[in-house]
Amino acid sequence: MTQVYFIGAGPGDPELITVKGRRLISEADVVIYAGSLVNPEILQYCKEGAEIHNSASMSLDDVLVVTKRAVGEGKTVARVHTGDPAIYGAIQEQMDALKPAGIEFEVIPGVSSFLASAAALKQEYTLPGISQTVIITRLEGRTPMPKKEQLSYLAAHQATMCIFLSVQMMDSVVENLVLGGYSIDTPVAIVIRASWPDQKILRGTLGTIADIVREEGVIRQAMIVVGRVLGGDYELSKLYDKQFSHMFRDGVEADSK
Ligand code: SAH
Repeated sequence: MTQVYFIGAGPGDPELITVKGRRLISEADVVIYAGSLVNPEILQYCKEGAEIHNSASMSLDDVLVVTKRAVGEGKTVARVHTGDPAIYGAIQEQMDALKPAGIEFEVIPGVSSFLASAAALKQEYTLPGISQTVIITRLEGRTPMPKKEQLSYLAAHQATMCIFLSVQMMDSVVENLVLGGYSIDTPVAIVIRASWPDQKILRGTLGTIADIVREEGVIRQAMIVVGRVLGGDYELSKLYDKQFSHMFRDGVEADSK
C-alpha cells in the first residue's frame, strides 16, 4: 500500500495544485512541506489533527526519520514540494532512501514555476520560426554545474531559456548569455513570484536587464526568461493553418482536391 506521496504544490497560488495533490493532502496524517517556497495556504487543505512539519528547518535525515516513523505507525505522509518536484526539488535522494526500507511512494506532479511564468507573461515559449526548444537551467551556486552545461554553452542554441535560482547573479547570467552568442538586444523578462498576489514582471534586454534588476533591490523567487519569443515577431502556427492537414483535421487543400 502506498503511504508516501511526493506532491507538487504548484508555484504559489493555492488553486494551482492538482485535484489529486489536494485530495492526498486532505487525507494525509502527516504533512511535510517545503516552507521556504510552498504557500502555507496549501495547509488549509489538511485534515483536522494532521501532524504538520516545515522542512525548511529540517535536514534530509530529519525528514526521513519523520517519514519512516509515520509509515511504521501505519500513517500516510504527504511530502509537499514547490512547483513540480522533478525540477530542483531534491526529491531523488528522498525517494532513493525510501526504496531500501521497502516503503512504497508515488509522485504527483505540479505546475512548475517556469510554466506559471509563461502564464504570467501571457507568452508561448515555442513560437514557429523563432524557437521550438525550451532550456531549463540555472547558474552555478552551491550545486556545481556539469562543465558541458555552462550557461554560455547552452546560449549557443538561442532557444527560449528559463533560468531558475539565479536572479541574484544577474550580471553573471547576462555575461554568460552574451558570451554564448545571444545578441545584446535579446528580450528578457523576470517574473517575480509568479501566481502570488504580489507577482511582478520586469522586462528589458540583455543590455538593460541587469540594471533594472539592481534598481528593483532584493528579489526572491524569480524566473529569468530569455529569448526572441518575447519579441513578438513570429510565423503563425502550422497547427491552425488552413493549408496544413494533420491527423485530426483535413486541410482545405486536401478537401478541395
Ligand atoms: N520545483 C520548483 C523549483 C524549485 S527551485 C518548480 O518547479 O518551480 C526554486 C526556484 O524556482 C527559485 O529560485 C525561482 O527561480 C523559481 N521559482 C519558484 N517559484 C517561483 C515563482 N512563483 N515565480 C518565479 N520563480 C519561481
